Amino acid sequence: MRAIVVGAGIGGLAAALSLRRAGCEVTLVEQTARFTEVGAGIQLAPNATRELRRLDVLDAVVAHAARPSHVSFRTWSDGAEICRYALGREAEEEFGAPYLLLHRADLHGALAAAVPAGSVRLNTTVIGIDQDDDSAHVTTATGERLTADVVVAADGIRSPARQWLFGKDEAVFSGTAAYRALLPSDDVTDLNLPPLAAWLGPDRHFVHYWVRRGELLNVVAVFSTEATAQESWTARAEPGEQLRAFTGWDPRVLAVLERAGQVLRYGIYTRAPLTRWNLGRVTLLGDSAHAMVPFQAQGAAQAILDAAVLGDVLTDATPADVPDALDHYARRRISAATSMQAASAQAGKDFHLPDGPQAQARNARMAAHAAEHRFLPQAPAWKTDVPDRQPEP
Ligand SMILES: Cc1cc2nc3c(=O)[nH]c(=O)nc-3n(C[C@H](O)[C@H](O)[C@H](O)COP(=O)(O)OP(=O)(O)OC[C@H]3O[C@@H](n4cnc5c(N)ncnc54)[C@H](O)[C@@H]3O)c2cc1C
Repeated sequence: MRAIVVGAGIGGLAAALSLRRAGCEVTLVEQTARFTEVGAGIQLAPNATRELRRLDVLDAVVAHAARPSHVSFRTWSDGAEICRYALGREAEEEFGAPYLLLHRADLHGALAAAVPAGSVRLNTTVIGIDQDDDSAHVTTATGERLTADVVVAADGIRSPARQWLFGKDEAVFSGTAAYRALLPSDDVTDLNLPPLAAWLGPDRHFVHYWVRRGELLNVVAVFSTEATAQESWTARAEPGEQLRAFTGWDPRVLAVLERAGQVLRYGIYTRAPLTRWNLGRVTLLGDSAHAMVPFQAQGAAQAILDAAVLGDVLTDATPADVPDALDHYARRRISAATSMQAASAQAGKDFHLPDGPQAQARNARMAAHAAEHRFLPQAPAWKTDVPDRQPEP
């Protein structure tokens, strides 16, 4: 079985590893000249780290991670704790895998290191995908035509492949944007911050957590806005913009935002849910299939789950089995990922409620949920019950 994976983000790398494990000969094609990930943090819940263990990369990832004892939800104005969930060793025992906080470059580097260099084609932009009954073909910008039994398009939120397969549709602005920063942890020691926290306020929420074994603090300050913002990991905010946007917030939040100095500004986009991800021998995976707002910290986790299921359905498959196997993959993954897209959007609305009865009811609901459950559910939702794995159809 020959497989081509287009895109070497977290989804594409996980797919390459999972397909190799399933016995496929994999070519991973990436447009950038070298493996890259941005300087930002990422949380990985046990539903994803469990699959990283199956891919034999969990130890390499854990070596770079911070492991939070708990997550704390707080009120924007005075930092009063709404609720907390345990995420440490007991939670790991409960879910069979750890909750990790990572620098993206560390996660990406650990996944990339596990893919043999001979399987990777960097500096190769895909400009077309087509197929016949027996195989699928990828055309590159230099006119080369690569052939395989299965093609996986893990080409991200702006996925050209999604358009080639299912026609034109665009990424949709979510009405939210985020200020982002990474600070040396020494710069904020005096603030006595919890290992992972989300502060909730009107039209805004503020998330911070340690990454790189606690050496850095990752900060994401989300705000609602009608002005469409650029989806860019490198666009800079105006000096001091973040402080003006969070005026009146708890002094610890303002101290972090001030000490962050020049912050970056990221416009948050999504993709509309699809009812199909696959066509014949070609399928979408990760953000190309289900880009979501990041308010449940599950976008990359869902891409890793896609990769795991894809490997499962193609284990022991022959080239003739591929179209049916991809149907099976999509049936197992679409409803779970689509539910997570909805749950993430709902979390954004819940986080941004105005002060008053609605926010009070939310806080009471969250506190009751945490008191009853103690651990963050696999898919951390207190409103929507989202399974992390679909039962076999
Ligand atoms: C602010 C923010 C915070 C987030 N936090 C979390 C979190 O805490 N936890 C979590 O699980 N998720 C989180 N996410 C979501 C997560 O970042 C994404 O879901 C995930 O990175 C998507 O990975 P991907 O591999 O599908 O796409 P991408 O990372 O976008 O990779 C796509 C790759 O395809 C390549 N490519 C594109 N077109 C072509 C082409 N034509 N030819 C060749 N190569 C091509 C690109 O160069 C790129 O390398 C967050 C997202 C944001 C915006």
